[in-house]
Amino acid sequence: MPESATIQDILRQSTCPACAHHVAVRFFDGGHLPLTTLAWPKSANEAKAMKRLPHSFVRCVDCGHVYNADFSYAEVPYSDKPNLMFNKGEIWSEHLRAVVELLIERLPSDPIVIEIGCGEGHLLRALAGACRGGRFIGFDPNASIDAGDAFEARAELFDPAVHLAEFRPDLVISRHVFEHLMNPLGFVQSLAFAAAWEHCPTRLFIEVPCIDRVFEMGRTVDFFYEHNSHFTTQSMSRMLERCASGVDMIETGYNDEVLFALAEFGERQQAVDFAESANAFRNRVRRSHETIQRELDILARSEYSVAIWGGTGKAAAFINQLGLDAQRFPTVVDSDPDKAGTHVPGTGQLIRHRDHLLEHPVDFIVIATQWRAADIALEIQRTGIRHQAIVIEYQGRLIDFLRDEHPYRIEPSDRSNESDYIEPIPRPKFLSRRVRTRLMKEAS
Ligand SMILES: [Zn+2]
Repeated sequence: MPESATIQDILRQSTCPACAHHVAVRFFDGGHLPLTTLAWPKSANEAKAMKRLPHSFVRCVDCGHVYNADFSYAEVPYSDKPNLMFNKGEIWSEHLRAVVELLIERLPSDPIVIEIGCGEGHLLRALAGACRGGRFIGFDPNASIDAGDAFEARAELFDPAVHLAEFRPDLVISRHVFEHLMNPLGFVQSLAFAAAWEHCPTRLFIEVPCIDRVFEMGRTVDFFYEHNSHFTTQSMSRMLERCASGVDMIETGYNDEVLFALAEFGERQQAVDFAESANAFRNRVRRSHETIQRELDILARSEYSVAIWGGTGKAAAFINQLGLDAQRFPTVVDSDPDKAGTHVPGTGQLIRHRDHLLEHPVDFIVIATQWRAADIALEIQRTGIRHQAIVIEYQGRLIDFLRDEHPYRIEPSDRSNESDYIEPIPRPKFLSRRVRTRLMKEAS
């Protein structure tokens, strides 16, 4: 059957945990099977009654990573069941010694070292023993680590946004954790961003099972539920290249059954610039919304009547973002007769056709969509809708569309058509200097 598979049979749109590519192909359909390592059933009946979970392993067509496209982290009980790792095999012990040596060679004197998911702390203990000074911190949500004096134990998940700045580690170690993560790339990118944002350069050592040899061997036992994400040398490289400042090493060991990588994370000016600009935007928007909400509230409580022009799309966003409720702002009109008779999403005002304003004129017309304001102003004039002022939001306050400076004024190209000329009307009282001063005072 697979020999004659069509693209519809094999293509699966899904996000690769290693490189974030969105197209994968079916690789191993394991069917519905129970957890294998984290359940610890106490009786035969409990074991047989275990929940069956989907094992839909796919392969990323961009980096070759293999992962369970139907994995759900919530199905794996990490918080109350320990992940017991057998560390006593002779060749495996030799491998651990090699890892310790490899790390020691690359550490400064008195290093600060964090291990994520340290378990009972076998490696951290060995590293601390091999270094004369330094600080060693083991993170593991399993609260029962007996660290003794060998290292500091933290019974919680390592959060780059919190703990990188707190400890400023020279090295973060993660062994046999990444294959369990829902979003390993997201974790490494968070670490990369935290290193840049906090000006805290660090290194990350990752060790995971390696599936480079699985393809030729046709082996499937690697693909059980708890191991959601399966790295090849290539997919590990791609993940790190996407966010590290430098990749120092990617190697396999233990007869090519494990993969380890060491990468550096430092300055990333563009990421910091985007973050600072986003933060500035957020602060500015918060202040402008407060100001405009106060201005609109004063308008609603004044003796003037108000209509909002626009009730769907961006206009509905304006109404909802600024909380323009139906009690204070009952009149909403729209240029489009097809929208009349429907209601503003979220706030519920009846949307009327703009001709409603011919018989029920208002003092202020608030155009909710600045980008269309020039057209709407022309429409108001041509239709002969009476009003005192057309108001739009610009730079965090309400302004007079016809008199104030703003970038939304579009002069009609054909000035020979007299009806395209918008006759200025006397400055309305609401926007007089006195009222503005009052508004600004109330808004500040
Ligand atoms: Zn990928």
